[in-house]
Formats: sequence, C-alpha cells, structure tokens
Amino acid sequence: MNRQPWLHWYQQGSFPTWPCPARTTGSLRLQKLDDEETLASRRQGPHRHPMEYSGRFHGWLRCDRAGCGEVAVVIGEVGTDIEVDEEGHQDWVSIYRPTAISPPPPMFVPPKRCPEEVQKELVRAFGLYWIDPTAAGNALRSCVEHILTRRGVSRNSVSKGRRHRLTLHARIERFQKTHATAGDALMAVKWIGNEGSHGGLTNGDVLDAVDVIENVIDEFWGDRMRALSRLVAQVNRKRRPRSKVKRKAKNNEAAPGPLRAVSRPRASDSPRLRGSSVLRRGRASGANARKQNRANTGRLGSGSRSQMRHALGLMHEARPPNANGRIR
Ligand SMILES: [Zn+2]
Repeated sequence: MNRQPWLHWYQQGSFPTWPCPARTTGSLRLQKLDDEETLASRRQGPHRHPMEYSGRFHGWLRCDRAGCGEVAVVIGEVGTDIEVDEEGHQDWVSIYRPTAISPPPPMFVPPKRCPEEVQKELVRAFGLYWIDPTAAGNALRSCVEHILTRRGVSRNSVSKGRRHRLTLHARIERFQKTHATAGDALMAVKWIGNEGSHGGLTNGDVLDAVDVIENVIDEFWGDRMRALSRLVAQVNRKRRPRSKVKRKAKNNEAAPGPLRAVSRPRASDSPRLRGSSVLRRGRASGANARKQNRANTGRLGSGSRSQMRHALGLMHEARPPNANGRIR
C-alpha cells in the first residue's frame, strides 16, 4: 500500500488523492477547502508565534472519473509549517491533517468474493482510521474473528460436556495448525488490535495491520489465488504440463480453461446445451447445470474443490451460506 495519502499533513496545493469510495477506478480530489482559526489560537492575541496557530477545516472531494463524480467531505485540523523556496527564503504555510472523510476511501478494495461481514468491518476500520486509530485496530480484530469463522474455525470448544467460548488467540492457534502462514499473519493483526486496549495505536500501526489483512484476504478470496489454484489443479489432475494435455473437441473447454464442475452435463444431455455458444468457459449453463451447481454449493464441483484444497493445503474450508457477499 502507498502510505503517502494516509499519514501526513498536507499543503492545500499538494493534497493527496484517495481511492474513490464508490469503488470505481477514479480518485477523490480536493475541490475546495475552507478553514477558520480556533478560539485557543485567537486568544493568544496579536503576538502569537506563527507556529502556535491552530485551526479547523472542511473540504469537498470529488471523484475524477468521468461518469462517477462521487463526492465526499473531509474535515480536520490546520497547523503551520515553514516552507523554504529555491533561493532559501522562508515562509509560513498552512498545513492540513484530515481527521475524518465521509464516506471513507478504501485503503484497499477487497475482492468481490470476500465475505460481507469481513467487508463491513473493513469499511468500519477505514472510517475509524482517521478519527480513532485504536478503534480501527479493534475493527480489524473483528475482521480476524470473521475470517476464522469463514475458514471453519469454531468459536467454541466442548469439554466435559460443556461449551466454552474460545479466545481469539486460541482460535488462531488452531488455525495455525493447518494454515501456518495465514495463521501467523492473523496473529500479528491480533497483537496490534490487542495493544489498542492497553495503550493506543498510531496510524502507522493500523496501516501495518491493514497491509497484513489485505494479503490474507487476497489469499483466501482474491482472484489471483483463484487463478493460481485452477492452474495447480489442472496440472495435478493430468500430472503433466498443460502444453502436453491433448485438447478434445473444441467446445469442451477453451484454453486455458479453469476447472469444470465434475458432474457437468454433456452437451448432448439437453438440446439447450448444444452448440458452442451455450457452454461457457469452465461453467455449465442451462437448467441442468444450474441444478448441478446448486448441488455443489459453489462454482466448482466438489471433486475440483477437494483437489484445489489438496493442492494449496487449504483444509477445513468453511462453506458459507452466501459466499458472494459484497458491499454495495
Ligand atoms: Zn468514483
């Protein structure tokens, strides 16, 4: 993540741009800004040192992408800094630090398949980041709880016939047994989130946790890992490079095709499925196929799913009731 837009005081002429909250490819740019001096600053009278100036500002941001133009407001504090020009002259300049942006720009855009409850906590963290980094750390800690639940780690344990709620630490330790790297990453987010309850987090601490959690989410729900797991499963299924696999009829699978549902209906099963336009890459279409896909509770067939898990060592995957959750 480029941290520059998230950490600094800025001059009006060099305000950063932030990713559009509407998740277009555009950026939020400052349109206009207005500031006023605080009471405490005014009370210091005419002999106040320029560095003692304090103020508050509000500004309008607008997405620069044609067809989007989403608006957001930014508020924050005003201070003073010294600017030195090329000839060595010094000048006092106003500098601005955001304390809130509404709606909050995303620090990263989670993949569409990322579960809804995880995305909700992320948006909460993105908003709290400005005004209360410690609370943002707590929201990221909640993200970790939800991620574990989605990956099939129980919230409770049963001993002597009684249910006990597991601590987050204990849940992560269970997860580490099957997912060492991702488990370590989530443990790091937990330690950062924990510190919030004891002392207080800096903005930099929160950015560390965001960086870590972005990678974990990408590993489990990102398109990059999905494409990689398809490739791995294809090679392992045939036990040879893809270039050495003979292609059957044209319509079976376009190269480099992803996994097919194991029980995908043949084109001859239904007149609606005949012809090249009705079989899309890697996914069956038509009523039979929809039924099959439902039976397999996902986009991949159960055989393919287990191959993929085997290939990546991703065991104990939870099967969410709605894996397509997203924020609109
Ligand atoms: Zn936009």
